Amino acid sequence: MTNEKFAYEVTTVTKFIQIYCTDKHKQLPKIKQEKTLTYEGVPDVVSVSYELCKDCEDMLNYSFARLCACPHVQKPRCHTCPHPCYELPMWKRMAKMMKYSGMKLGLNKIKRLFLRDKDG
Ligand SMILES: [Zn+2]
Repeated sequence: MTNEKFAYEVTTVTKFIQIYCTDKHKQLPKIKQEKTLTYEGVPDVVSVSYELCKDCEDMLNYSFARLCACPHVQKPRCHTCPHPCYELPMWKRMAKMMKYSGMKLGLNKIKRLFLRDKDG
């Protein structure tokens, strides 16, 4: 995939895992981190910052590693990929997080639309 696509994927997955962790792991200690990623030998393709519990940080690093290794030039959405590269337990965890955060983002979008309509 292109560097732009890689940067987009990395930013998206970080955002989704962050939403999940913020809501679901309120009681867990968080690690604040900033990270700059290299993709196909190009340094600083994308940088992200996050504040996640240990498990979610592991999940995020795992996702980054899978994205770096993604063989698709035209990368499909990971959840519709014909050759999913996640190991099954990780895949299930990830699917749960994506579903939760996706719904939450969707709801916020609907709420915003609704409020805008109401305001006139
Ligand atoms: Zn977490």
